[in-house]
Amino acid sequence: MRLRDKHGRFITDLRVSITDRCNYKCVYCRTGNEGALYADLPFADYLRLVKIFVQLGIEKVRLTGGEPLLRNGLVNFVSELARLRTADGAQLDLAVTTNGHLLADLAAPLKAAGLRRVTVSMDAVEPVRFARITRVANGFENVLAGVRASRRAGLEPVKVNCVLLRGFNEDQIVEFARFSREEGVVVRFIEFMPLEEDRVWSPEVVVTMDEILQALNTFRPLRELPNGLSETARRYTFDDGIGEIGIIAPVSHPFCGHCSRIRLTSDGKIRTCLFSLFDHDLATRMYSGATDDEMAAYIHSVVNVKEARHHIGEPGFVKPSRSMVHIGG
Ligand code: SAM
Repeated sequence: MRLRDKHGRFITDLRVSITDRCNYKCVYCRTGNEGALYADLPFADYLRLVKIFVQLGIEKVRLTGGEPLLRNGLVNFVSELARLRTADGAQLDLAVTTNGHLLADLAAPLKAAGLRRVTVSMDAVEPVRFARITRVANGFENVLAGVRASRRAGLEPVKVNCVLLRGFNEDQIVEFARFSREEGVVVRFIEFMPLEEDRVWSPEVVVTMDEILQALNTFRPLRELPNGLSETARRYTFDDGIGEIGIIAPVSHPFCGHCSRIRLTSDGKIRTCLFSLFDHDLATRMYSGATDDEMAAYIHSVVNVKEARHHIGEPGFVKPSRSMVHIGG
């Protein structure tokens, strides 16, 4: 039976974190002092768990972290996942989210292994600013090479995700519009959420969708593109049809009512929402000898209690029990 929560939402999209280690220390994500906090599982164990999820109706699998490209054996793991078929017999929509630092050499092997798409995180298109945000020197050149290698390998459309922070990089909005048009990538702006290790978030720091649209329209008039109901991004192109911009606005325009996502952390815990206050321990069940049927029944029971929505910005909002880098974005 397919996964469906008590609010009637079908769950078709699984994010799997394969490590919470990261080689970047983005100022809005990490303190810069913490390393990995949680264990990684062997790939064979993730594979067993993903197979169970896929039998329950998962159609999209996105590998993330931490930084997923840090895991040795990733290409082989992708080739194992690419062999799985959905409940309807189709291929999985298989994607990776990465900071792109190691992507230039891995894009072609990942594509050959069966990866469909890649999303690269970039918060500036200018090397000095990029280094200030990531706290890594010379990252920009590597990431740009990774984006270009992904396009050459056919991992298209290449999506570039940018988190905007007021006072830090909101002047990059128009530069990113140019980047989308020149590099042939989809640029997606994501509103900053209270999911950082440190205490950086406040409503004032969030650059909202309305502001982003305003800035883009001063560059060139935007035209809205159609999107699917469960798609998180509002999509736009410019008046001449060149370039594509997405805006993901979980803070100012929440889309929880259409959420189809569930997450598996690197240590094998299920999270039903980025803002969940607790995890559901699937790995311990597996290591205690649970059968696939028992784990499937457990997954159903967990999905059933998925939160209706997040409460960002509301009085009494409680920060989730893990930050983004330790959940898997
Ligand atoms: N290391 C990979 C990467 O950089 O894409 C995957 C993990 S990273 C946590 C996934 C995404 O989450 C990145 O695009 C990052 O910018 C985004 N992110 C991290 N903290 C965030 C926050 N507080 N609000 C919104 N997005 C955030």
